[in-house]
Amino acid sequence: MEFKFIKSIFNYQDRAPKELPQIIFLGRSNVGKSSLINSLANRKQIAKVSQMPGKTQSLNLFEINESIYLVDAPGYGYSRRSIETTQAFSKLIESYIVSEANLVKFYILMDFKVGPTNLDIMTFKNLLKFSLPIGIVFTKIDKVNQKEKTKTDKMIKEHFPYDQIFYVSNQTKKGINDLEKDIISLINQEEDNQIWKL
Ligand code: GDP
Repeated sequence: MEFKFIKSIFNYQDRAPKELPQIIFLGRSNVGKSSLINSLANRKQIAKVSQMPGKTQSLNLFEINESIYLVDAPGYGYSRRSIETTQAFSKLIESYIVSEANLVKFYILMDFKVGPTNLDIMTFKNLLKFSLPIGIVFTKIDKVNQKEKTKTDKMIKEHFPYDQIFYVSNQTKKGINDLEKDIISLINQEEDNQIWKL
């Protein structure tokens, strides 16, 4: 997909320049969010792979195929960051979500090797109130052997029985296509909606 970095957003009132649909990527620091954006963009450096986890302090806005915005939210739950800072970041994300009418879908990234953490589950539950579709993206599937996979699969089914789940590896690029197709389908869906509105 064609990715273009637009800008960093430090204040929720700061808006995207165009009225396009938006998707948002959320996840724990170090989950592989920057790597996933690089995989989708098929570029090595569009999103910086963090040298220091949790360093990103803004929402980063990308335009995909000139049709949809991807909002890259700051990673949550990094232990070296102070509580105050963590809350400030959550507030930025929350205020942005509440006030952005163009959001069409959330994607929560989770590390498949680690499995869903309490914080991941809390974030997921928090997002349910917005009544938007939620895709769960498990990263680093290359790091897991069959035995671990069976255990994590069981846990996933317990916590997210009805939700849409993607499994990806930024190393082998397995599953990247499926996620890409999902994003493209959102673009097409939004274009159909526009036609109906005319
Ligand atoms: P972010 O903090 O969520 O943006 O995470 P990064 O993209 O910076 O990745 C954190 C670390 O995990 C880096 O060392 C990446 O190389 C590694 N990583 C990311 N995705 C994968 C994956 O799918 N497989 C493996 N094995 N490592 C990954």
